[in-house]
Amino acid sequence: MTARILIVDDIPTNVRLLEARLSAEYYDVVTASSEPEALAICESQDIDIVLLDVMMPEIDGFEVCERLKINPKTQHVPVLMITAFDQSSDRVRGLEVGADDFLTKPVDDVQLMTRVKSLVRLKSLTDELRARVMTGQRIAVEDALQAMDKINTAGGAILIIDIDLRHAERIKSCLEPEHDVDILTNPADAVFQVTGAQYELALVTMSLVDFDPLRACLQMRTLEHTRNLPIILIADAADKPKVVRALDLGVNDFISRPVERHELATRVRTQIRRHRYALELRQSVNNTMVLAVTDDMTGLYNRRYFDRHLGVMLGKAQELKRDMALMILDIDHFKAINDSHGNDIGDAVIREFAVRLKRNIRGIDLACRFGGEEFVVLMPNTDFRQAKAVAERVQQSISDWGFEVGAPGSLSVTVSAGVTFNESAADTPESLIKRADAALYRAKREGRNRVVFDAA
Ligand code: GH3
Ligand code: MG
Ligand code: MG
Repeated sequence: MTARILIVDDIPTNVRLLEARLSAEYYDVVTASSEPEALAICESQDIDIVLLDVMMPEIDGFEVCERLKINPKTQHVPVLMITAFDQSSDRVRGLEVGADDFLTKPVDDVQLMTRVKSLVRLKSLTDELRARVMTGQRIAVEDALQAMDKINTAGGAILIIDIDLRHAERIKSCLEPEHDVDILTNPADAVFQVTGAQYELALVTMSLVDFDPLRACLQMRTLEHTRNLPIILIADAADKPKVVRALDLGVNDFISRPVERHELATRVRTQIRRHRYALELRQSVNNTMVLAVTDDMTGLYNRRYFDRHLGVMLGKAQELKRDMALMILDIDHFKAINDSHGNDIGDAVIREFAVRLKRNIRGIDLACRFGGEEFVVLMPNTDFRQAKAVAERVQQSISDWGFEVGAPGSLSVTVSAGVTFNESAADTPESLIKRADAALYRAKREGRNRVVFDAA
């Protein structure tokens, strides 16, 4: 997932250092060496993260942050603030002016990448949700944009997962009474504990000797009910390789041990604020547009919505030079299912198909019923490797288990899919659909139950 990062600093050596590290990870780096320049760039370009050092000779970093956060055009751009190692007063000021996250000097590589990755993920998810709202209704946008200001971060429902009860109790005492905190000392029960409960954050300690905590995190990420639950990992510095893996699995943030009280409070608040904000956005998307834009039978978006949204998203991907994948899926030999079992069973297959489809795409992907037994999935900011993973997971989720939909026994159902990517400024929604369709046709011809990528 690529992103454009603005580094604000008036010391050229600092800029070059950060720029080199970020460019090595394929981030697109822009720099500003004065406050007006930084503000102008944020207003005129699509910046995903601002990296702001507060220890600059000429610029007041706190003021830059504050200006960005009061300007409606820039307030959604996450600000990652770099502060001195021992200045907790800097962090307090940073929080007051709306900084989204912090790094301390000297900037550690893993920490830098962790924070950047997690903010990029957040930004692209909120961008995507905001774009969906805009495709629907302006009113919803305004409500949603105001929501962030109104979010209160107190009273968070937090679950600590830690086999060391005394350590867990210490963490809990730092978070109370601001939040409601439960402790779970058997990580194998994590999924049961969070399912059905209304947790807003899980704090997972890495020093779990007899159970890989990453497994608990992965389980929470794959289950429908918990996939949006923020997870903060508490880890020893020596666990860094595992932390990196955890981030790839979708863990949102990590805190090094020994846990510093103030840092804990800040990170917890940040995650809760984001979680509540995303929830509000989703609800506003749901409430205002559900009727006009969804397909009755499956609850997926309908064709009309898709046609409009594809245009918007393609324009954006082209402007920002980002990858975007489009997948068209068609259930194999569906007519035979209708013919042998009747149309009601056919309908039930379509519904179950939609459930599995939704479960196996990511939060950022948009799934629609294209018509009949045909579906499309739009995957913003997605490269070949990621699209392949999603497409194959979907295809296998259909073929690996029979459909129990009221027919005697269970029906085996398969699907074929064609995937394509936006390639040039000349692409149009029609040309993308045409290419994906051609790939789908090949998948059918080559024997069905498979994914074919458009060979560009
Ligand atoms: P292929 O593997 O080539 O895709 O074969 P297929 O049988 O799936 O394709 P075909 O296009 O020949 O048939 C699709 C059938 O799906 C025809 C249509 O009557 C049926 N169909 C379309 N929409 C619905 C629906 O909402 N409910 C039911 N039960 N059937 C539907
Ligand atoms: Mg068809
Ligand atoms: Mg078909």
